[in-house]
Amino acid sequence: MIHVVWDWNGTLVEDLPVVVESVNAALDAIGEAPITDDDYRANYTRPVERFYDQLLERPITVDEFAILDRVFHEQYRATLDRVPLANDAVEAIEAVAARGWTQSILSMWWEEELLEVVAQHGLIDRMALVQGNRDDPGGEKAGHLLRHLSALRVGPESVVMIGDSIDDAAAAGVVGTACVLYDGGSHHVGDLVGVGVPVTDSLVTAVEIAGQIER
Ligand SMILES: [Mg+2]
Repeated sequence: MIHVVWDWNGTLVEDLPVVVESVNAALDAIGEAPITDDDYRANYTRPVERFYDQLLERPITVDEFAILDRVFHEQYRATLDRVPLANDAVEAIEAVAARGWTQSILSMWWEEELLEVVAQHGLIDRMALVQGNRDDPGGEKAGHLLRHLSALRVGPESVVMIGDSIDDAAAAGVVGTACVLYDGGSHHVGDLVGVGVPVTDSLVTAVEIAGQIER
């Protein structure tokens, strides 16, 4: 029996345009120039402080990060209703259920807002658990994944994480779960391949791969 842990942003929802728009609003708030989708792909990492350090090629200050984090989230929140599900998200979620597996969502987005938007898309009832971030702005996912699995009472050996970022794979590596990376556009695909776990640009295929991973 397999349990799939879905990432949300960039995986089940296709939010890269809105993310880049929100980063640009944040950069503007500290007097920095806007970036392109490709700048985002080339630099995106966690913790998010390091992402901004890399983008600006200098260490950002604590005060700047506070502004960047606040403005990013304000802007992203304001554009939430423009964020569509990925093309085959519903099909992939149905494929997990059809195999008799369980599934949940773990996001680094603020939990209260995550729950609202997952409900708007009609997906809450499909999930054993939906968890977001409560207290760790810009942090890494590994600790959150541990907490998520312990709340679900599932062991890492039965879990496959499906996410779109190198941080998703890093979290899976720390916790000892399998991982399939989805090329949702937030990294260059070569960087995803370099992580060493299976990479696909289809969520339905990600589910198929999840069923083939040896454990
Ligand atoms: Mg993501």
